[in-house]
Amino acid sequence: MSAPNKSYDPVEVEALKPEAVERAREDALEAIAGAGDLEALHEVRIAHAGDRSPLALANREIGALPPKARADAGKRVGRARGEVNKALATRLAELEAERDERVLVEEAVDVTLPARRAPLGARHPLTTLMERIEDVFVAMGYEVAEGPEAEAEWFNFDALNIAPDHPARSEHDTFFLHAPGAGAEGAEGAADAADGPGSGVVLRTHTSPVQIRSLLDREPPVYVVCPGRVFRTDELDATHTPVFHQVELLAVDEGLTMADLRGTLDHMVGALFGADIRTRLRPNYFPFTEPSAEMDMVCYVCRGDSVGNPDRPCRTCSSEGWIELGGCGMVNPRVLTACGVDPERYSGFAFGFGIERMLMFRHNVEDMRDMVEGDVRFTRPFGTEI
Ligand SMILES: [Zn+2]
Repeated sequence: MSAPNKSYDPVEVEALKPEAVERAREDALEAIAGAGDLEALHEVRIAHAGDRSPLALANREIGALPPKARADAGKRVGRARGEVNKALATRLAELEAERDERVLVEEAVDVTLPARRAPLGARHPLTTLMERIEDVFVAMGYEVAEGPEAEAEWFNFDALNIAPDHPARSEHDTFFLHAPGAGAEGAEGAADAADGPGSGVVLRTHTSPVQIRSLLDREPPVYVVCPGRVFRTDELDATHTPVFHQVELLAVDEGLTMADLRGTLDHMVGALFGADIRTRLRPNYFPFTEPSAEMDMVCYVCRGDSVGNPDRPCRTCSSEGWIELGGCGMVNPRVLTACGVDPERYSGFAFGFGIERMLMFRHNVEDMRDMVEGDVRFTRPFGTEI
């Protein structure tokens, strides 16, 4: 740009000629109308209304004109730029509205589409019942103890005062993983189980070996509850399964008597079946307890009312009024001795029962196979206890 020049002829300035301004204006309006989207409109704005657009360049030339010509040219260029800016604003509003409408359609969510449902399972009632029983004893100060399922014969039998000629040791009842007398070196898979004196390795036939392990691990007083899986060579049918669950209880302390055992059992059935459920003990024999007893509880359904009353038969107790719960007794002093506990100073009681059986009479489950088949239709009605 140069200083005002009196001899300057406005007609000579190409960019400011009326037809040039008019052409720039028309080009701009045409480009604006032809912009199909916001991006294109942005390009059009740079080309026709930006700093280097023909109208902006023309505007810069105005200052170089003589005063009279300056007003004319200024009015002309100003009007053209105003129109272009107005057209830009209008087109921008149109394109933004179009975009918003398209986004609404493209990003619409069909709330009527069916949802993908994840089928809900349920915890197995054996698990929840076992945890419930554990809770009863943990609340009394007992500790939960566990042991290996592949167990040394010594822990499973000998230490529990089950002599080698006891029928429970015959292969009819026991799964042998590693035959007796073959030495322990073949039992890598059950190395932990093979550390007791003796030879064979078995799948434990009861949870009682955990009592022995607990006594060897701890100094009396010992109060443990031992839940777990046990194995017997039974065929699976309505009342038998080769794999089932037991809960075993062991208390060893100074001065424990049958009365403590009885009180503990009464508390347990009260917590599980109702506060006024009574228990009774019948003499029995187990090698690892002396004296031993079979423990019954009053039928929690009929409370004994079905006995001699044909009008009110009870399916839960077969109208006998009592339900057999499990075996118990005072720990045999020979078991205490085997575990290095002085039987002159300490005494103890033990109690064991099957969880499957308890689940059967507690919930009227008639077929044990339902518990092992894993059908969610069986577990779901028990609800989910945490
Ligand atoms: Zn009954």
